[in-house]
Formats: sequence, structure tokens, C-alpha cells
Amino acid sequence: MIKLIDICKTFVLGDQPINALDKINLDIHSGEYLSVMGPSGSGKSTLLNVLGLLDSPDSGQYLLDGIDTKNRSEAELAKLRSEKIGFVFQAYHLVPRLNSRENIELPMMLAGVNAKQRRQLSTVALERLGIADRALHLPNQLSGGQRQRVALARAIVRKPEIVLADEPTGNLDSRSGKEVVDLLEQLNNEGITLMVVTHDSELGARAKRQLQMVDGNIVQDKRHEPC
Ligand code: ATP
Ligand code: MG
Repeated sequence: MIKLIDICKTFVLGDQPINALDKINLDIHSGEYLSVMGPSGSGKSTLLNVLGLLDSPDSGQYLLDGIDTKNRSEAELAKLRSEKIGFVFQAYHLVPRLNSRENIELPMMLAGVNAKQRRQLSTVALERLGIADRALHLPNQLSGGQRQRVALARAIVRKPEIVLADEPTGNLDSRSGKEVVDLLEQLNNEGITLMVVTHDSELGARAKRQLQMVDGNIVQDKRHEPC
């Protein structure tokens, strides 16, 4: 479902170019569960941002379900993101002045989904994540675990093909973190492709395919098949 061919992304700070992604080649198949580990600055978030169409590569090809994502308008990218990709961040990235339901509906609003359908879908997602009674709360009225559930509800509200999670448990205590991981793994069991960036080796080891990044390269791609 995802094919990256020779993807490069360079950031220039001052006169020091940094190859955040250095000719990445990667195939991701539908239903896979991947983790991405590696030292700080190795390019994990950059890879996830490129996969999530939040950032564009400088060169190379990114095919999403056979669609070449190059030279797409912002509107086309928003539509692709909203239909196919769910993104979960460490810092939740909720809009502070919007309540849970409004936060969940925001990407659909940007993608032009009508109000009735938005409401139906957000109701299902709120219930699914066990936060229906928090629909009208603002982010600062929620616990960290509840905020991450709202972020997760926003990520899955349109049944994406892939969920990309960047340190989804990084800000949570171990119990809330475990709940979020369980929810992500449940989604994967239902067929959603899952890619989790983590510093937590225990969490990373749960994935069936484990990528290791160093200096913008994937240096290890390990498949873990149960006996
Ligand atoms: P961490 O584990 O600390 O989150 P990471 O593996 O996610 O690290 P990235 O955020 O992908 O690393 O960054 C890869 C490299 O690109 C780093 O050297 C970083 O400084 C650089 N970089 C990332 N974003 C930018 C940016 N917007 N401007 C300049 N340099 C950037
Ligand atoms: Mg990062």
C-alpha cells in the first residue's frame, strides 16, 4: 500500500545540511504492524511526517495505494490524509479552544465532509474510545490519557488505512500508555496498518516488523514471526 523509492529530505540550518532521510526505500503492506526505533535525530519523525503527507520529500517517489503523491495541491493532500491516514502525536496536537468532539471533527471539516456525517462519525469514535462522556470537554479539562484518546479518535474517525503514531505514549504514565498501545493494537487486529515510532524498546519489540534508523537510513528491517 505504501512504496517509498529513494526518498531524501535535507534540512539546512546555517550552512550545515542535515540528511534527515538519506535515500529511504521502504514497502509497507496492508495490515502490517511496524515500529521505528533509533537514536534522537535519526529521522524517525521526519519519516513519519513524509508518510503522513505532513511534509514533502526533496526527491524520490512516494506512492500511496499506487497514487504518486508528488506535486499534489494542498486540497488533494488534505483529502488523501483525511481518507487514508490517521496521525497520533506525542503532544496530542489538539486545538485548545475546541472541545473533544470538535477536535475529532476538525480534519473532516477541512476535507469537506458534511456536518451530519461528521457528527455520526465522531459519535462512533467517541464511543469506541470510551470518551463519549468527555465530548464537550476542552483539552485542558482532560487527563493526558483522555487527551491521547481524543487524538486517537481523531486519527481513526474515518477508518484510515494506516495509523502513524509518533511517540504516542511518550507523555503518558505507564498505565495510560498501556491502554493507548492496547487500543492501537486492537485497531491493527482489525486490519488497520500501524506504524509506531518509539524510544521504548519494550513497546517497539511488540511490533511484528521492527525498523531501526540511524542518520537518516533504515539500518535494520527485522520481521518477527511467532513460531
Ligand atoms: P527524536 O527521537 O529526538 O524525536 P527523530 O529521529 O524523530 O528524533 P527527526 O525529528 O526526524 O529525528 O530529525 C532528523 C534530523 O533532522 C535531526 O538532525 C533534526 O535536527 C533535523 N530536523 C528535523 N526537522 C527539522 C527542521 N524543521 N528544520 C531543521 N532541521 C530539522
Ligand atoms: Mg521524533
